[in-house]
Amino acid sequence: MELRHIYSKALALEDLTREEAVFLFREAPVYELMHVASAIRFKYNPERKVSWQIDRNVNYTNVCLSGCLFCNFHCRPDEKEKAYTLTPEEYREKIRTLMERGGDQLLLQGGLHPRYGIDFYEDLFRMLKKMEPSLKLNALGPPEIAHIARVSKLTVRDTLKRLIAAGLDTLPGAGAEILSDRVRKIISPAKPDASQWIAVMKEAHLLGLSTTATMVYGHIETLEERAEHLLALRDLQKQKPAGVPGFRAFICWPMQVKGTLLEKRFDIPRHTPADYVKMIALSRIILNNIPHIQASWLTVGADTAKICLHAGADDMGSIMIEENVVSSAGAGYTFDEKGIRQCILDAGFSPWLRDQQYQKRD
Ligand code: SF4
Repeated sequence: MELRHIYSKALALEDLTREEAVFLFREAPVYELMHVASAIRFKYNPERKVSWQIDRNVNYTNVCLSGCLFCNFHCRPDEKEKAYTLTPEEYREKIRTLMERGGDQLLLQGGLHPRYGIDFYEDLFRMLKKMEPSLKLNALGPPEIAHIARVSKLTVRDTLKRLIAAGLDTLPGAGAEILSDRVRKIISPAKPDASQWIAVMKEAHLLGLSTTATMVYGHIETLEERAEHLLALRDLQKQKPAGVPGFRAFICWPMQVKGTLLEKRFDIPRHTPADYVKMIALSRIILNNIPHIQASWLTVGADTAKICLHAGADDMGSIMIEENVVSSAGAGYTFDEKGIRQCILDAGFSPWLRDQQYQKRD
């Protein structure tokens, strides 16, 4: 197998095989991958522009049955001192400050709550849209959708249809971690499995819902499992009906493990900027049918994110007015509006503010 031959295929936007993808993971130098990925990025997005967004990550509850080893955020239903569910007054205040800072979206994430079924989420979405009709809801994720369907004794399709009718605008690709049941059985055994994650996304795409895809790497997975994760996303995107967005973007980040059970039980490798840049470039090269690749400045910092803009990424994500989950496991970077614009300019690109559908806002 020759690297040059694989690069030619990638630059022609042809599908790489599993063996070719794994070969790139193992053998390709990061500077060559950056060069190829950047050329592919400009095929999708020919202008030297990088998008960013203003949203707020709101965690509606921290009660969760799943108990993932990497999660410091959740608590069990019987932990009365720690458990919370946000009140209408708290939402009102969060939306007010979001709007004051020019934001337009809530990224609503929580846990697999034992009692919250479809009625809870329908009521919540309708209440939020009533509080602020212009608000966009990027809410839940495949594990929560599968859980709500189970609690409510509904199909995934009917669950999604009812949530869309109540105000769900887009579905984040949360809870993918690594789409391998070997890995999931160890790090998140009670969470819906890889096939359920894929089944929810497939149904969302059939219903025309815009989604994103994610990967959390750098823990107990193999390079083969990382490559298979990317190929599963590419193959799922191929199955979406023509004319619907499917996955608009892919976002990956290194697992944050500070103080988690995962850190205590396993020897987690140290993450390096070079690993992240390589992951971004490989994502751009392998995911030949997903239009945008996002650099996760929140977990890797501004300096590494800037390099990613030269390795295939064309989006910097949101300034995230509030974030609680990865921050509770060690991610400590912050950005304001001025800072994210300057970061993009410093990397040699023009910033442009987008909405959740990757359309320009200013
Ligand atoms: S990561 Fe999500 S599903 Fe897992 S324990 Fe935390 S809140 Fe629950």
